[in-house]
Amino acid sequence: MRFPLIVNTSLSWYLMKRALKGDKYFPMVMMLEPLHACNLTCTGCGRIREYKDTINQYVSVEDCLKAVDTSGTPIVSICGGEPLIYPHIAELVDELLKRKKIVYVATNAMFLEKKLKEFKPSSRFFFAIHLDGLEETHDMLVERKGVFKTAVNGIKAAKKAGFQVTINTTIFKETDMREVELLMDYLDTLGVDGYMITPAGAYSSVSNQEIFLITKDEIREKFKEVDKLMKKHRLHNTPIFLEFLQGKRELSCAAWGVPTYNPKGWKGPCYLMTDGHYKSYQDLVTKTDWSKYGPGKDPRCENCMVHVGYDPVAFLALKGNFLTRMMDGFRMFMWQMFAPSRESKIRENAPVPVPPKPTQLSPAGPIVQLENFFVTAGTHKN
Ligand code: SF4
Repeated sequence: MRFPLIVNTSLSWYLMKRALKGDKYFPMVMMLEPLHACNLTCTGCGRIREYKDTINQYVSVEDCLKAVDTSGTPIVSICGGEPLIYPHIAELVDELLKRKKIVYVATNAMFLEKKLKEFKPSSRFFFAIHLDGLEETHDMLVERKGVFKTAVNGIKAAKKAGFQVTINTTIFKETDMREVELLMDYLDTLGVDGYMITPAGAYSSVSNQEIFLITKDEIREKFKEVDKLMKKHRLHNTPIFLEFLQGKRELSCAAWGVPTYNPKGWKGPCYLMTDGHYKSYQDLVTKTDWSKYGPGKDPRCENCMVHVGYDPVAFLALKGNFLTRMMDGFRMFMWQMFAPSRESKIRENAPVPVPPKPTQLSPAGPIVQLENFFVTAGTHKN
């Protein structure tokens, strides 16, 4: 199975209940940002820039739980900022698990080894670690040397202690997909449980817009061979979302399915764009004119294909005629039930692969191009 049985059954039960109630808008995953402070200054991060005026504020555990309870979402992804520097992170995770939530802590893993003893493994609990490439590429994107190594040590420690670990990888304009494959090959040897990949969403607060995948065609080109990754690795993206990224099908944005809560309230309309903050999920849903968002409606949405807008659609609103819906439903079932098998033995000391050599398609190679770009843009830190 791709996820533990308890995760599959909780999700199916939740979806059945919401479908029977006939709810039009309901959340699937809540992005809970108890703080925006972070120990890193990653090049592509919008949060530390958009929320720099409130970077020292954080949400109390009580308010986080109130927000989770009122939204009713089955999956809570605690992000930020860096959630492992939130002073009450272990208490928050514990309370969410008591509420039978499926909990992800989305972390850069710099403090993972140190903080591990504060948590207990559970089939509902995942550390989702941010890695955007092999050592040189990742360290460059997070603007600090040694981050990749520390994250890998954190992964090893977490796996040894019995935790589930997944990896979040953002695909930028210069990302070499062959490097992503090598990264997954390597992380498989460490016993990683799954991978989530998404095209970079262009945060307006990030000045280096050129690092993002700008057009849909660029995104489709990047993801055209994603089937290969899908067959080999335990991707946690739905097959329907991956077909959308490849340009094989269209989906409508369902940003209301992945709402974000942070020190300012419920952020709308989506994880990427901020047109307002609301007091409750109900306010966000009822006061937002959803018909105004999405490609062809808002120019800011034109080339957006991020997972927080589109991946939940596979669960929430399988569209088309009866036969298409039946077939998609069957595929989603098969996707949940079957996944590429894990490495039979964890090989902690496997060497980190060398990045692929540049091809004719990317003559300078991703790393050299990025280095040049950052140096030109004046953001590269030694
Ligand atoms: S398409 Fe949806 S997720 Fe993407 S920017 Fe627009 S509202 Fe946000």
